[in-house]
Amino acid sequence: MTARILVVDDVPANVKLLEIRLLAEYFEVLTATSGQEALEICEHGKVDVVLLDVMMPGMDGFEVCRRLKADPATHHIPVVMVTALDQAADRVRGLEAGADDFLTKPVGDLQLMTRVKSLVRLKMLTDELRLRASTTRNIGIEELLDKRGTRAEEPARVLLVDEKPSSVERIRKMLRTACELQVEHDPQTGFFRAAEGEFECVIVSSGFADFDPLRLCSQMRSLDRTRFLPIIMIADHGEEERIVRALELGVNDYLMRPIDQQEMIARLNTQVRRKRYNDELRASVAQTIEMAVTDGLTGLHNRRYLDSHLQTLFDRALARRRPLSVMITDIDRFKPINDTWGHDAGDEILREFAARLRKNVRGIDLACRFGGEEFVVVMPDTEHHVAERVAERIRAQIEDTPFALKTEGREIPVTVSVGVASLTPPHDSVQTLMKRADTALYEAKTGGRNRVVAKAA
Ligand code: GH3
Ligand code: MG
Ligand code: MG
Repeated sequence: MTARILVVDDVPANVKLLEIRLLAEYFEVLTATSGQEALEICEHGKVDVVLLDVMMPGMDGFEVCRRLKADPATHHIPVVMVTALDQAADRVRGLEAGADDFLTKPVGDLQLMTRVKSLVRLKMLTDELRLRASTTRNIGIEELLDKRGTRAEEPARVLLVDEKPSSVERIRKMLRTACELQVEHDPQTGFFRAAEGEFECVIVSSGFADFDPLRLCSQMRSLDRTRFLPIIMIADHGEEERIVRALELGVNDYLMRPIDQQEMIARLNTQVRRKRYNDELRASVAQTIEMAVTDGLTGLHNRRYLDSHLQTLFDRALARRRPLSVMITDIDRFKPINDTWGHDAGDEILREFAARLRKNVRGIDLACRFGGEEFVVVMPDTEHHVAERVAERIRAQIEDTPFALKTEGREIPVTVSVGVASLTPPHDSVQTLMKRADTALYEAKTGGRNRVVAKAA
């Protein structure tokens, strides 16, 4: 794992100490000796994790963290606060400033590496999502994420998996106003509930009589539905080994007993905030992909989608020796319709045409807007003569039912010409198949329009 770590500390010797150990693990290391310098490096450079000293003259670590988290350009960079003393108050202040984690000086090697590696993993995931969300989208990612406000207000939905009634009661009390808590005593049932429920964080207690909580964590990490669900483990002193293994398995954070209420709330909030951020990125990526392959006017797939899927359908049909047919439809004399009734009326007709097309084909058929007033339907498992009948049915429905124009309050007659072609092995290709359908369409046009021409081979 190669990643760039920024070490910030006003004492050069402390910087050097961390730098040497990180370099030994093959991380790239950047350094800064003041808060101001750290902010500049984060803004300009590509930083994956910041290790931030709390006590610095001038701008202290809390302020640096707050500024990093307030700036959309640096908001997603994980920040680890390095505190001089193991003081709960400092930790809480740090978490409130938006810090993702803590290390206490002197920093233990194991802690340093497990924390940094786990945050680097998270950062890489976020980076990939940010990249995918922004490259395929015109509006900026920051603008998109600015609309987050609404969910930030909702209480987090949290599942606690813990079999000890006394521990459950204590945690329930501590989290009473902080989140919507559900409790599960049985770890196996807990796993199913985590997979089925809409939880935003799972807290797993380490104190089961005869169940290894790491098993639950690893189950959650291997199932798609729970892969990105944050897990916080609660452990007892003396269980450091288990925590290290838990973090390696992908557990996001841990708390030691006795639990500090404020720290637990702050850590929980950090996990939930990060999950919501990533969920939104993921949703935006999905939406972007959807937008990229959908025609905005009709809601059908667009040409780009057809181009990427026709070959697959073609190859599959060939390999399975199944028939495959395509039709190209082109509305007759559409230009005069536009010229007479206006472009909006033309759009209305295109939408209605697409709706009728969709109604007349099966779910497995691929209906696309090819461009302008041309549409293509790819029909897997469909013999030539069947495709011809489908085309004829569509042609007749377009002709028989005039298109109602809401904007004009009247009905206008529309007709369509259709070309049909079917896969003819062994010397066929997507190009020759489409070419035959196009030639058929051309013949339908020159033959007088409002007709279907089917080219068997
Ligand atoms: P033909 O019977 O030979 O197909 O005649 P046509 O007028 O339909 O053919 P032509 O290709 O000359 O014109 C297609 C017209 O479709 C031109 C354009 O104004 C219109 N058109 C293309 N895309 C859209 C659209 O998104 N909305 C609207 N309203 N019109 C469109
Ligand atoms: Mg036309
Ligand atoms: Mg045309």
